[in-house]
Amino acid sequence: MEKSAKIYVAGHRGMVGSAVVRALRAAGFGNIVVRTHGELDLLDSRAVREFYESERPDVAVIAAARVGGIGANSEANSLFLYENAIIAMNTVYQAAEAGVKRLLFLGSTCIYPRLAPQPIPEEALLSSPLEKTNEGYALAKISGLKLCEYLRRERGLCYHSLMPTNLYGTGDNYDIEHGHVLPTLIRKFETARTQNAPTVTLWGSGTPLREFLHVDDLAAACLFVLGLENPPNLVNCGSGRELSIRQLAETIRELCGCKSLIVWDRTRPDGTPRKLCDTSLIRSLGWAPKIDLVGGLRRTIDEYRAALARGSLRGVDPCQVQ
Ligand code: GDP
Repeated sequence: MEKSAKIYVAGHRGMVGSAVVRALRAAGFGNIVVRTHGELDLLDSRAVREFYESERPDVAVIAAARVGGIGANSEANSLFLYENAIIAMNTVYQAAEAGVKRLLFLGSTCIYPRLAPQPIPEEALLSSPLEKTNEGYALAKISGLKLCEYLRRERGLCYHSLMPTNLYGTGDNYDIEHGHVLPTLIRKFETARTQNAPTVTLWGSGTPLREFLHVDDLAAACLFVLGLENPPNLVNCGSGRELSIRQLAETIRELCGCKSLIVWDRTRPDGTPRKLCDTSLIRSLGWAPKIDLVGGLRRTIDEYRAALARGSLRGVDPCQVQ
């Protein structure tokens, strides 16, 4: 990518989009185009088409989505399917119609089957049924990545996708009911510490295994694949290390300096039992993560405390479109 390239980042106010914008700026890309939700409604295909035609970006990075944790997804699969499918169709198809030559579509490893082989290779896509708690989101993201693949094949456009594992870091959503597990746990343990609470209640059994990647590592991966002349249609992106929810909880409790006991609420869902992605493809191309989990957690807890003190913590509006 030329440093002068005009790059549209959809979803620049979300955790992923804002990290991508930071990484692009840090790498010397100065011509970045963004629109707030108020300025451009990504559910409106005509508006999206007009935007692409008037701005004519060289590259588009699609990081806009309605996102949320297991609570938000499982209670609103219809909304997660509807909004994310329309956002994907509009941002990808209208880009092609307006002549945008290169596009990177972001999703999540929840596109893979519930009982996919572990670590999950890209080839596991559509090989067996999906996890039910986030099926709507997954179907929308599968449609988006398939659209990129079809447009690349049919029109020769360099449209490709990257599927990150569970992300955390700067700008995360700390909503207790609707956020993802890692930020929610930071909030729960920090709140318990400051209130001297005897217990902290977490969801499920604590046995599911999850992999976590700092969003700055993901942003570096986005720049990396955008720099490839012939990128894979679909590539996973993860840290390659997994731990149980119980281990995650104990690590966060210790880093927060919280003494409360953990209580598991087994009426809440566990979700998929294991979700470790196979990162051999992206590693073979030359990318590797740089931020280890404990270092990334320390930084994230510091940022949480600073944002709380400033009154700028995200999570009041649980699952806004980013
Ligand atoms: P997932 O990775 O797509 O399933 O979504 P999450 O990031 O929400 O992680 C969910 C996993 O963490 C499940 O196994 C939950 O049972 C477990 N978990 C434990 N406590 C919490 C909590 O307070 N909030 C959330 N979101 N998940 C929790």
